[in-house]
Amino acid sequence: MVIFKSKQPPIDLPTELTDWDWLFDSSYSPINKHPPNELAGFQNAITKERVNWADVKKYSTYISTALVKKYGLKEGETVALFSQNTVWYPVAMFAGLRVGAKISGASPAYNVEEITFALKTADAKFLMTTPSSMEIAAVSAKAAGLPQSKVFLLEGELPGYTSVQDLIRIGESYGESGQVSAFKLPPGKKNKEVCGFLSFSSGTTGLPKAVMISHQNVIAQCLQIQQITPETQTKIMAVLPLFHITGLVHQMHLPVLLNAEVVMLPHFTMEKMLDIICEYKLSELLLVPPILIRLVRDPIVDKYDLSHVTRFSSGAAPLSEEIIQQLQKKFPNTGFKQGYGMTESCSCITAHPPSNFSYKYAHSGGAIVASTEVKIIKDDGTEANVGEDGEVLARGPQVVIGYLNNEKATRETFDADGFLHTGDRGAIDEEGMIHISDRIKELIKVKGIGVAPAELEDLLLGHPKVEDVAVMSVKDDYSGELPKAYVVLKPGTEENTAVGKELIAYVKEKKVRYKWVKEVEFINEIPKSPSGKILRRVLRDKEKTGKFGL
Ligand code: AMP
Repeated sequence: MVIFKSKQPPIDLPTELTDWDWLFDSSYSPINKHPPNELAGFQNAITKERVNWADVKKYSTYISTALVKKYGLKEGETVALFSQNTVWYPVAMFAGLRVGAKISGASPAYNVEEITFALKTADAKFLMTTPSSMEIAAVSAKAAGLPQSKVFLLEGELPGYTSVQDLIRIGESYGESGQVSAFKLPPGKKNKEVCGFLSFSSGTTGLPKAVMISHQNVIAQCLQIQQITPETQTKIMAVLPLFHITGLVHQMHLPVLLNAEVVMLPHFTMEKMLDIICEYKLSELLLVPPILIRLVRDPIVDKYDLSHVTRFSSGAAPLSEEIIQQLQKKFPNTGFKQGYGMTESCSCITAHPPSNFSYKYAHSGGAIVASTEVKIIKDDGTEANVGEDGEVLARGPQVVIGYLNNEKATRETFDADGFLHTGDRGAIDEEGMIHISDRIKELIKVKGIGVAPAELEDLLLGHPKVEDVAVMSVKDDYSGELPKAYVVLKPGTEENTAVGKELIAYVKEKKVRYKWVKEVEFINEIPKSPSGKILRRVLRDKEKTGKFGL
């Protein structure tokens, strides 16, 4: 059996602690390690609003007490967070976790249908949002059966809604002895068996599913990454969305463990990001490929002195060789690191250790993180040796529990030996670095965020002029990848630009921006297997060569 093992020393993993106890009430907690005036925290880079870890602990305790005592939150129920980045997002998240709730994040750009689907799939009983998202949140909450009394504001005020600040006041009014005690693992259960988060991913096929992430998954991933994070990392920029797994781990949990200040940007623009990089003299930048592309191409970057930046960190999507070269040329005094993984592996399977923080290794996705094993399965079903290409499988304490209420997809993705089937193609080289070469699964990564082709296919099939459709990923200079629809029109419908535009507009109207299709191509037939499955490979080959290889 060829199994590639991590070269890092194994992590010492606590198995009896909940996520909350681990970060706020154990020997790992920065609160127990540093004097109060040295505690870092979450900071809004624009408004300067700031909460340090002790504040987070205090406010989360009050909020959780109010949610349980006044609003009836029960252990195991789901609290959904539908918001842009704000310091109150992690406070509310930790409040829910503290009393055993599951936390489910959703893109703040979602429309009514999308957030309703997310609320229903995660079986959310509480929703926290912001005034700018309330119009959509209120309609969706109603559609998902949530009463207005269970919809809260993370910031700001609106008539008829309780805010997080109200919850803090309510919680505080119970007095110190009246606080609800923190959730403990049920007798006989380890933290790997208890779900703390529900994040969305389409996995290798089909519609987005709620991924059950355990308390242990997050603890393990943070310890794995801490091991390869230099102690000089004292500030972390949070421009990536908090609802994504990267935000959950690297912008909300890991910084607490590292006692690193989180500099948050609520609404991303290139200019604002560059402003805060300079203002806070940030040295390592955690970014996704589309932002790195803009760093090398956007002329606005030249207006800034970024000489204090020492390292770029990339993840969530592939980064081209060309951009890596341009980055090194434009910022010659920087190093580079990358992480590879997915929601189902609670972020990283591989990441560069400090000895490889250089452009020499930038074309790889890094080395296998601690306590993790990787297998590569070749097309003939056998296990690959060094340098041989195939599907990447991974096993480790960060590999999640499975999909909520979806036995079939869980069985297909997580095998009996505990290996996660990533749906990515890659190889491990002599130095133990992974090289991701391709994607076997049906996934489109737009600006680092996953889009499920099945979701857009379902939508387009509902259009009166569409007989059949397949949605695929095509390369895009700005977003990395974008969806493209291959469409078979209903008999009698003329293939012309107007119909193409109509279909593009139809998607625009129904879906969040990052799911919009870049182009429509009319074809006579969608290539399918005898069982009716779309032969995506045939379409992909067509995209590469310009013609079908049927
Ligand atoms: P998500 O669950 O949204 O994080 O998406 C995970 C998928 O993003 C992976 O299965 C890969 O297809 C892709 N991905 C993540 N990181 C990388 C990387 N460093 N290089 C190439 N693809 C990546």
